[in-house]
Amino acid sequence: MASGGWPADWDERMAGKDCPLCAALGQGDSSYSVAVLAGQFTEVFLERRTRLPGYCVVMWRLGHAAEPDDLDPAQASGYWAEVVAVGRAVRARFGPVKVNYMTLGNMVPHLHTHVVPRYLDDPAPGGPIEWAQIHSADPVPEAELHHQAADLRVLLAG
Ligand SMILES: [Zn+2]
Repeated sequence: MASGGWPADWDERMAGKDCPLCAALGQGDSSYSVAVLAGQFTEVFLERRTRLPGYCVVMWRLGHAAEPDDLDPAQASGYWAEVVAVGRAVRARFGPVKVNYMTLGNMVPHLHTHVVPRYLDDPAPGGPIEWAQIHSADPVPEAELHHQAADLRVLLAG
């Protein structure tokens, strides 16, 4: 049904076909990210290749859902509460001047939110940030990532 520039199998992807996030849940660290925490509703991952320290992705973990409105009200409340808790922990640990919550899913339609800290030396102050400005070619060093993840775990448990 979906057409235009969307993938031919977009409707199937929305329904969970070959979903890479469903496959990533419960699998821990990957080449993209370090697992921080599994909450009641979400799993939290710290991105490896970013120029914005503390950039996390929070993923809905109770099966496949594409949109927040696919959840029932209690699930939706739980999802956003855990997203907000991650933002709070990122602010406490990394001290950004702003946090952006980006729930997009235009490439991978499994409900997830990018928690993107914006810093004083941000590449796009006062406006939205482009993907190319969030990501970096080189990963944050492994030991530093695990130190950051451990700190976030403590803050999220508190
Ligand atoms: Zn999925």
